[in-house]
Amino acid sequence: MLQQKNFFLPSYACILCQGAQSESRDHLFFRCPFSLTCWRYICPQFVPHMNVHQNIQALKEHLMVPFHMEITTLVCWSIWKVRDDYIFKNIRPSLYRCNQIFKDELNLVFHRARRKKYSQFANWIANFR
Ligand SMILES: [Zn+2]
Repeated sequence: MLQQKNFFLPSYACILCQGAQSESRDHLFFRCPFSLTCWRYICPQFVPHMNVHQNIQALKEHLMVPFHMEITTLVCWSIWKVRDDYIFKNIRPSLYRCNQIFKDELNLVFHRARRKKYSQFANWIANFR
C-alpha cells in the first residue's frame, strides 16, 4: 500500500520469507510460508485463498466456533507483531514466538468475552496446544 502511494522504502519485500515476495496484505497475513505455518498450527485444514474475505470465510468454516473472528484477528496481530519485532528489535521470527503472542493476547481477550461465549471459549483455550 505504501508503494502504491509513492512512499519510498528501501525494500517492499516480505521479511518473513526473506524477500521472496512483496509484502502485500494477503501475502503477509495468509500466503507467506511463515504465516501459513502459524495458521496451520491454529487450523490445520487451512488452505490460503486469493483474497482476505475468502480466507476469513474459510477460517470461519474450519474453526466452527462463534469467536472465529477473535481468533482470526489475533493470529493476524501475532504475525504482525513477529514481523515488527524482527524489523525494530531484531528478534528472529519463529512459530514459537508467534504462538506465544497469540496465547498471551487470547487470554486477554478471554477476560473480556461475553458470558454466552465464555464456556465455549474456555474449552477452546483449554484444548489449544
Ligand atoms: Zn512472506
